[in-house]
Amino acid sequence: MNIRAGLVGLGKIARDQHLPAILKTDGIDLIAVASRNAQGEGVNNYPDLGAMLAGEADLDAVILCQPPQARYHAARQALLAGKHVFLEKPPGATVSEVEALIALAKEQNVTLYASWHSRYAAAVAQAKAWIAQRRIERISIQWREDVRHWHPGQPWIWEAGGFGVFDPGINALSILTEIVAEPVTVLSANLEVPSNKDAPIGATLTMATASGAPIDTVFDWRQTGPQTWDIAVDTDNGGLLLSEGGNTLRLDGEVQLKAPDEEYPAMYRRFVDLVADRAIDADTAPLRLVADAFLCGRHCPTAMFED
Ligand code: NAP
Repeated sequence: MNIRAGLVGLGKIARDQHLPAILKTDGIDLIAVASRNAQGEGVNNYPDLGAMLAGEADLDAVILCQPPQARYHAARQALLAGKHVFLEKPPGATVSEVEALIALAKEQNVTLYASWHSRYAAAVAQAKAWIAQRRIERISIQWREDVRHWHPGQPWIWEAGGFGVFDPGINALSILTEIVAEPVTVLSANLEVPSNKDAPIGATLTMATASGAPIDTVFDWRQTGPQTWDIAVDTDNGGLLLSEGGNTLRLDGEVQLKAPDEEYPAMYRRFVDLVADRAIDADTAPLRLVADAFLCGRHCPTAMFED
């Protein structure tokens, strides 16, 4: 029997990725949407999650696509109702929220899936396998994009708990913590916060692998023109470049793989498998690095920014 799913927060990512990916995935059907402002087509619509849970007694799973500040309360509500839960990234506004959700999902014997879409980019698995055979000497991450293009009309992203430039930056950290087998730690960070915002527009992080390889990282939301989502890894036996958010792989400058983005269908296949086993997949490693950058980072006020 297919998973009967309800989605909460019918915004940009729900429309761009979740709805088409669910349609493509065997084993799951979208039967309901909870939205304060919008209506899903061909599904039952509710104004909020509580009404959806009350109205859909046979719902199996809840997919949470709101901003991170709203995630914890909704996820608790769904888990307490005995539903499997799919969390958009980041899985919470804080690490302790996600740890509490993991404990609750275990108690309820349901699936909790903290999705990290960038880990499903086409070249990530191949990059991980290549790196596993080598000694890492240095990593450089450049994640530069134009916030006005990618995040128009999203006030939450600039508010406390909205992550600012770490909203895209955590995608890079999710790839980093997937392709590097060793623990990664944050040594220092600079967070550039516009004087009229609560969250950073730019950040530089100095991190390191446990065996001491430096990881230099730049996140910047002020990039116009070509956009950059690159991770370069120098090793004792060649260099790797993951670009286009993990969808292109170059080894020693030669393109090895370049594929279109199929991240969300892959995540839904994973979710269907997890639900079959009532399993939990909720890695907090990327979120911990963001939390550590905020903990040890220098806060540097910068110019006002109007988006
Ligand atoms: P969005 O369009 O601004 O917001 C998504 C929906 O969440 C809104 O349409 C609204 O749904 C609900 N919402 C907005 N503010 C809320 C609030 N303060 N409290 C409760 N609900 C609220 O954002 P998005 O771009 O889809 O991003 C949502 C999440 O997906 C974020 O965590 C983001 O990191 C992640 N994500 C986004 C992208 C992307 O390209 N945009 C890519 C990957 C992941 P209703 O009006 O239906 O209630």
